[in-house]
Amino acid sequence: REALRRYTSRTHVAGTAADRESALALMMEWGTALDADLPAPDKREELLFDAGVSGARCAAPPHPLGEPRVWTDTYSSWLNYPVSASLSLSEPGAASPYWTAALKEDVLPGAAEGMPVFHGYSKSGSASGPVVYAALCSKKDFERLAALGVEVKGAVTLCRYGGPFRGLKVRASADAGAVGTLIYSDPAEDGEMTEANGHAAYPDGPARNPSSVQRGSVQALSIAPGDASTIGYPSYRNATRPAPEDCDSLPAIPSLPISYADAKALLVALQGHGTRAKDVGENWEGKVPGVDEYWTGPSEHIAALDNQMTDIAETHDIWNAYALIPGFLEDELVVIGNHRDAWTFGGADPSSGTATTSEVVKALGALTKIGWRPLRTILIASWDAEEYGLIASTEFVEDYPKFLERAVAYLNIDVAVAGSQIDAQASPSLAGLMLDAAAEIADPETNGTANIKLEYPGPLGSGSDFTGFLQHLGIASTNVGYGRKKTDPVYHYHSNYDTFEWMEQFGDPTFERHLAVSKLLGLTALRTASALTVPIDTAAYAKQLSVYLGKVDKLVDEAKLPHVADARLRKDLHKLGGAIKKVQHNADKLEKRKAHLVKEVKALLSGHKKGYTELLAQQAPLKKHKHGKPDDSERLRALLLAIRDANAASKAFERGFISKHGLPLRPWYRHLGVAPGRWLGYGATTFPALTEALTLDGGKGASEAAQELAEKLERLAHTIKPHGHPHFAHA
Ligand code: GLU
Ligand code: CA
Ligand code: ZN
Ligand code: ZN
Repeated sequence: REALRRYTSRTHVAGTAADRESALALMMEWGTALDADLPAPDKREELLFDAGVSGARCAAPPHPLGEPRVWTDTYSSWLNYPVSASLSLSEPGAASPYWTAALKEDVLPGAAEGMPVFHGYSKSGSASGPVVYAALCSKKDFERLAALGVEVKGAVTLCRYGGPFRGLKVRASADAGAVGTLIYSDPAEDGEMTEANGHAAYPDGPARNPSSVQRGSVQALSIAPGDASTIGYPSYRNATRPAPEDCDSLPAIPSLPISYADAKALLVALQGHGTRAKDVGENWEGKVPGVDEYWTGPSEHIAALDNQMTDIAETHDIWNAYALIPGFLEDELVVIGNHRDAWTFGGADPSSGTATTSEVVKALGALTKIGWRPLRTILIASWDAEEYGLIASTEFVEDYPKFLERAVAYLNIDVAVAGSQIDAQASPSLAGLMLDAAAEIADPETNGTANIKLEYPGPLGSGSDFTGFLQHLGIASTNVGYGRKKTDPVYHYHSNYDTFEWMEQFGDPTFERHLAVSKLLGLTALRTASALTVPIDTAAYAKQLSVYLGKVDKLVDEAKLPHVADARLRKDLHKLGGAIKKVQHNADKLEKRKAHLVKEVKALLSGHKKGYTELLAQQAPLKKHKHGKPDDSERLRALLLAIRDANAASKAFERGFISKHGLPLRPWYRHLGVAPGRWLGYGATTFPALTEALTLDGGKGASEAAQELAEKLERLAHTIKPHGHPHFAHA
């Protein structure tokens, strides 16, 4: 609670002085918790400055069994900030508008001013035209409008939040010919917690405050995250950058986020024009009070939006903070990450996650202070500029691919608590780890009478900092946090109402959810860092591949490709099925082998007082067996070497999906197993190249994608096969 109070005391948008100070403060806090050497105050500034200029970084962890340490570093990224914005409606030909939008969230009594409303990376400029309501502004929604003959060209689109990532709403609008986009939060998102249902609006009650606005990035996240001007390489101050016009992931038209109070005037202006929304599709009709019927438009009235932002091609320093706890093994690394920057105060997003991360650091500090060391090295990172597009985590990943070859897993936490529903996503190899850990933690929703029952974690798409680790480098990843159920108080995401006060009043008054998710993150981190064999279940992953293939098979049936193409694709899929079987066979063997090796080590150590971590540390020989049996310490060494090989194979599993040239149309995304959907952003698409060839490209490229994937999996099957290592025979 006190950590959250500190972290949310003021707004800390990426690249601002408050953000910079928060990086230094967190470094000091973590350093204190870990008893690390703290840089002298005058050196802290230097540290920030130097790194950004030279690219000289604290890349390598200290020698095994060095002391825990903390540091910060700097990247330099394009970011833009709001200057001014306006939005109005006029009758055609009228000299002045009849309505002007507030574009401002009400400042609550006693509260700080907060941030203006804007979209990160939004294009500067003005746009005017008739309004077209396009529901979620998904690709499908625009196809529906086109089929109905609704003219989007030259219009300002009105989109609801929900579904695709907001940057893809703007992109789909631009593709359809729109000149500007407005995105609002419809109470239809809020489930039962609406004013219409008799609930008072925040701060008097749990319903949405009508003036609340969701800020957020409008980068085309599914094309590439990170600094749009340095895709694929780190954004040092002196990096080479293209012109903004050449950056495909930046939006082509201006956009603004608006409240439902403001959206009402637009929805009213649409009434009677175009098609009734409820005749267009399910869920097209929303629930803004006072709007009886939603219509598509185009409206007769003209919307004029003006959005002035600072120069998008201006670089701004951003700051990551890190803590490192050296383990016995230098070349096996566990990374825990959470972003620190917020669109406003960051009550839930991300400071609930930052408080959680700090709680874990404190716990690890308590352990290190009594002499404990993890088997593997642990790196804890506080990322900057996640909100603009996963910037500093992506830059880190692009900066340190070599160092990150050590990583066995990346554990992400973003929003730790926004409601009562605990929810996780994970690489299938880490799903079991999460389920097992959750099952050992008291569930605050049952007052501790039962343990947490986690739903099976689904695949990771994008929308938070795991993206670079998983999708660019192929590091097995997890993400966890309490989300909002439809019956929970409305969470004012990316709004000035995402505050400590909201959290105390509605999100987690007792902070037991924070505690539970801290335990879950801590326990998964401990197990990943210290289990003798890495808890990456390759057999579970391999099993999922059949599910992914099953989905593709269904798509092929639905696609009704021309005969020749269909026959060829089915042949390729058959080959892919064969490769999956081989992966499954070898993964099963690998997991059996890991279990066997652990059993052997345990048996060997059962008569000895020391644990394996101590033995590793001291390299202390075990006592010799009587009766001429082989030396136990020799045997232990052989077993541990065999385990290291099995761990390396487990670590290699996720990397086996990485393709050098990446996915079609978006080479930065290199994982052939899973990616954020090209038109979803947040949502995961499995076997993306293959799936999207079928769902988006009329089958074009499907055969090639199937062949490439089959080759990858053949190779993966080989990689994880025990290669007759000399130690294996003995062990
Ligand atoms: N998590 C943030 C959001 O959903 C940032 C995601 C991104 O821009 O990549 O808006
Ligand atoms: Ca970059
Ligand atoms: Zn976040
Ligand atoms: Zn966010």
